[in-house]
Amino acid sequence: MIIKQIRLFEQPCLIFFLACVLTFTLTSSASAEIGNSKSQIEQRYGDYSLVQDGFNRIWTQSEWKSTLNSSAKAYGYMTIVGEMNATVWIEYNAQNRVVKETQIMDGNIKIRDFQNCFGELYTDIIAADSTVFVNSTFPELRVIVRKSDNKYNLIRFFIDNLKANAKINMHSKIHGFEITEIAPGDAKNYLKKSRFNRIASNLNAQQSSRDDNWLKTDNYFQPELFFSENLLPRKKTDMIVIHHTAIEDMSVSDIHELHLKKGWAGIAYHKVILPDGTVENGRPENLIGAHALGANPRSIGIVLVGNFESKSPTVVQMDALVKLTLELMRKYHIPLENIMPHREVTQGTTCPGVFFPWQEFIQRIKLNTSETLM
Ligand SMILES: [Zn+2]
Repeated sequence: MIIKQIRLFEQPCLIFFLACVLTFTLTSSASAEIGNSKSQIEQRYGDYSLVQDGFNRIWTQSEWKSTLNSSAKAYGYMTIVGEMNATVWIEYNAQNRVVKETQIMDGNIKIRDFQNCFGELYTDIIAADSTVFVNSTFPELRVIVRKSDNKYNLIRFFIDNLKANAKINMHSKIHGFEITEIAPGDAKNYLKKSRFNRIASNLNAQQSSRDDNWLKTDNYFQPELFFSENLLPRKKTDMIVIHHTAIEDMSVSDIHELHLKKGWAGIAYHKVILPDGTVENGRPENLIGAHALGANPRSIGIVLVGNFESKSPTVVQMDALVKLTLELMRKYHIPLENIMPHREVTQGTTCPGVFFPWQEFIQRIKLNTSETLM
């Protein structure tokens, strides 16, 4: 089986990973503290070390105690995340309940390593009723998590080194996050698709140029793609259609975002073959794709990443394609004559490109299918 899941832990930084796992139980700096009491916070983190005043000045505890100033805006508690020091800033209301929690780490972690360091919060984020969205103009990531019927938290992530129009994905690095409770009405409006953009931009009113660019998107914390509509199962599978992306260097999430922006449900293809021969999953294999007008209800779409109008696929990419095609042919009993280039199924396209070696590909499939028959 060559099909890999999107590789969540393929190349973990092992030391960091272990550090996270080992220190997790010690620090338990994990769940949202919203609503907790001051004494619960101090049981967890110990006494505060820092104070932020109403002018955003930072005081040490001893400095603070020596002033007569009593209006603290937030208290800073020291903790450890993985091998990093981190500060948890807590804002309390008049009843000493937490209304806002901000964690700032000295370094950063990749989104895909979040689970190892923030296990409880991760569980909230990947819950079925949580919603992840990004601003496509100025990269920003937010998640709404549902805590109970009438309680929703909004988590804003602080993402490192992102330029305008950069892509957020599971490899993006975060150095902290802020959690606040949002009113049930606001949360429900957020989550209504038709009103989604407007409400999201209301919460972001001070940055009006970013309005209308919020997209409900993949849950980057887990390796599953978000589709904007319900997809239907395919009743019959008797064809495979081969494509190229026509754009170099695309990842599965790049293709997915591009197709979402086109107003489609999400990535149109079922399988994606990268230039290094890795096969990744796109749209679930049993659901109707959106890759070949006229043939979608009966076919599986495979796309090779690259522009084969200007160059050929890589050798390993073709090897992977042959192997994958043979596997799918056997699985669904698809005949050789139903292995199609996109251009023969849909008019007006040259896909998968003039440099795609179609005859050689079909010869290799023929050779392998006749060998297995003998
Ligand atoms: Zn195509």
